[in-house]
Amino acid sequence: MKQYKILFFIADGLGDRPVSKLQGKTPLEYVNKSNIRELLKNSLIGLMDPISPGVVPGSDTSHLSIFGLDPHKYYRGRGVFEAIGAGARLKASDVAFRGNFATVNNEFIVVDRRAGRKIEEADDLVKELNEKIGEIDGVKVRFYHGTEHRVAIVLSGKGLTDKVSDTDPHEINKKVLESKPLDNSPESQFTANIVNKLTRKIYEVLNSSEINKIRISKGELPANIILLRGAAEFVDLPQFESYTKLKAAAVSATALIKGICEQIGMKVVTPPGATGGLDTNYLGKADAAVELLKEYDFVFLHLKATDAASHDGNVDGKVYAINKMDEMIGRILDKFGSELVIAISGDHTTPVEVKEHTGDPVPFLLYVPYSIINDVVNDFNEREARRGSLRIRGLDVINLLLNYSNRAEKYGA
Ligand code: ZN
Ligand code: ZN
Repeated sequence: MKQYKILFFIADGLGDRPVSKLQGKTPLEYVNKSNIRELLKNSLIGLMDPISPGVVPGSDTSHLSIFGLDPHKYYRGRGVFEAIGAGARLKASDVAFRGNFATVNNEFIVVDRRAGRKIEEADDLVKELNEKIGEIDGVKVRFYHGTEHRVAIVLSGKGLTDKVSDTDPHEINKKVLESKPLDNSPESQFTANIVNKLTRKIYEVLNSSEINKIRISKGELPANIILLRGAAEFVDLPQFESYTKLKAAAVSATALIKGICEQIGMKVVTPPGATGGLDTNYLGKADAAVELLKEYDFVFLHLKATDAASHDGNVDGKVYAINKMDEMIGRILDKFGSELVIAISGDHTTPVEVKEHTGDPVPFLLYVPYSIINDVVNDFNEREARRGSLRIRGLDVINLLLNYSNRAEKYGA
């Protein structure tokens, strides 16, 4: 049997609900999508629950799932994925925390949990922390800036655990908490000690930083502490190529998704002009996918604009992004041809009127470049998908793709 290459296109937050501004249609129903409709005559259509029915996915847990990795096993807390999204690359037994730049007085009482929220100097403060705090008692410490006041801190070394409590009191006018061991192990005691020493060290560095002196002189709150929460231990993620036998690459501009793809061993490309927003370079991403398809068996193409528009409640923006998504598919078919297996879906539903992720299933399209018993539907959208034959979970996707690209290995004798 001929083996085919695979394109897996995820439009983030693609799924939706009826939108009043679109006369009760979903954005996917509203857009004509002439290129995607071309695929229907040789496709299976249906619905995917990215994790399982009704579970509201984050983009991180959902992407683990659609890459074939059970998030219940590999997702150990947001700290880890916050760090990955901020640019950290982790290894087994690293412990990551989420943190906020905050303001404390000299009695360690929290005055503002976000140091005024807008911290333009955050990158410089993080740089200063990395320069001045390399390690504590043999444990390597790395700081990463996320967005606004958010930071991630990664501890690497022997004898660490995530069984320690937060230093974030989660309220103002309360003292910064001492981190406490959450079980009786020496690792918990050791890690809590490191966290408490680290917190004092962070205060020393930040409170005497020139950057904060300037902030105070401008009447702004000093960002003189980092409040830590959500300790999470990283478990090594299996390498995509080792469990799929596929040489894989990804096109994405979103730090979190790039991080996950890199952690499972994919080559990751961000073409010029790709932003993760509505202003992204749509066709540049399609062209990058075409180039990668020449060399790789599996190319993952991620579009963030659909989710970005949804969170903003921007109906026109979501319609625009879906039009662009269809153009991207057209570009790939023009340049690479249709001799490949194509899956198109979202990593979750983000209804544009809800502005947040929901647990609704997402329409899923699987195009196959040879004759199959295809589903007879008129379009690719939430309503038509209910008439198709597929009802799958995220964890099923890789198996489907391997089967229809003629690459699956027999399970059993
Ligand atoms: Zn997402
Ligand atoms: Zn989202």
